[in-house]
Amino acid sequence: MTEKKIKSANEAAEKIIEWGEAHDMVTCFERAEKLKPCPIGASGACCKACHMGPCRLVGKNAEEAARGVCGATLATVAARNLLRMIAAGSAAHSDHARGMAYTLLAVANGEAKDFRITDVKKLYRVAGYLDIEFEGREVNDVARDVATRLIEDFGRQGTGHVNFLSRAPEKTQKRWEKWGIKPRGVDREIVEAMHRTCIGVDHDPDHILLHGLRTALTDGWGGSMISTDITDILFGTPAPVKAEASFGIFEENMVNLVVHGHEPLLAEMIVAAVSESGMVEYAKSKGAGGINLGGMCCTANEVLMRHGIPTAGGFTNQELGIMTGLVDAITVDVQCIMPAIVELSKKFHTKVITTSEKAMIPGAIHMEFDEERAMEMARDVVRLACDNFPNRTTGGSHITDKFPVIGGFSHEYIEYMQGGSWRASFRPLNDAIMAGRIRGVVGLAGCDNP
Ligand code: SF4
Repeated sequence: MTEKKIKSANEAAEKIIEWGEAHDMVTCFERAEKLKPCPIGASGACCKACHMGPCRLVGKNAEEAARGVCGATLATVAARNLLRMIAAGSAAHSDHARGMAYTLLAVANGEAKDFRITDVKKLYRVAGYLDIEFEGREVNDVARDVATRLIEDFGRQGTGHVNFLSRAPEKTQKRWEKWGIKPRGVDREIVEAMHRTCIGVDHDPDHILLHGLRTALTDGWGGSMISTDITDILFGTPAPVKAEASFGIFEENMVNLVVHGHEPLLAEMIVAAVSESGMVEYAKSKGAGGINLGGMCCTANEVLMRHGIPTAGGFTNQELGIMTGLVDAITVDVQCIMPAIVELSKKFHTKVITTSEKAMIPGAIHMEFDEERAMEMARDVVRLACDNFPNRTTGGSHITDKFPVIGGFSHEYIEYMQGGSWRASFRPLNDAIMAGRIRGVVGLAGCDNP
């Protein structure tokens, strides 16, 4: 007897996958099985840096013998390909951070009236990292200076480095100094990565990879850190909160609206909109008991750790969520949105709404986010979901397993846990690691997209 192949470790996901297979619905799990890895990439590398190629560097002695038309070695091509991937990832996180920095600036200038500075303490902390005076000043003035200084991190051209590098331990900073990999500006390193990987530029694999490290640092100590801090300033630094997870967060008698993607700006407004009495009454006028908001992917984490909004899961759950048949509308913005969900949604009643000016999917409804009318737009989205509730059919897996979770363990909260308000620090943890009572700390990324 052939053993049943498990496709997902999540039991509820597995049930929906089985339901989908029985109903001729294709998901990423089936596509991954059908699409075998490219044999060139599996045994060597492919270079598409110029039109003399693509050059396939494969074969028994590829590492020593394979050459592209221009003479590039496998090590050069592999390093170039990796650097381009690093540049793309850094660009994604950092472009998001740029948007957050400009929103903070707009808030400080009174131009994004639906947003406000929620966590003044965090604003002051970040101002302190940047040597910006905050004592006795107007909050918006401090916020303007913080936003302006962080925006400089993207386009810095002359001397200087990404601001937050100074937050790293001194030993780490010295190591970066020694290897000459301190990033100057986010955009600059990403542009240079693209330049170096063009035909006929950087051919030394070690030299290419050093720029890979430099470019990656723009992400970790630039884009990602900037966006995390600004999100906390605008919406609050997370603290532990109870929530629920998995597909059972969708409710049969409620309008189920999902926020999916990476941008928290619209999602935060939708969180506020769904609890407005006018919106709840509107949902009831369509025959629903109320509005149930859920999250997917990183936007889910944002609204879970700040508001306890339940999550339907990560990247590989997005198709499965629609296959429950219970999702009335799903908003998507940037990063980790499978284009497949639009095609799949047509088999159900689900409306897929793209909201970013940077990302559209053929067949989806496009409602472009505008921070100057953020709340109005959030209400439009909620109304659209309510309007679609009467179109719900009995189709779908209707799998409703769920379990409790506690989220919100931010860096600041973990620090607070170890000393309270007055003596918050990481000292107890560091001492325990140095004494060998704790062997180390593991960071787990929240996404199941490899
Ligand atoms: S850069 Fe060299 S290895 Fe790459 S495609 Fe052009 S000729 Fe081929």
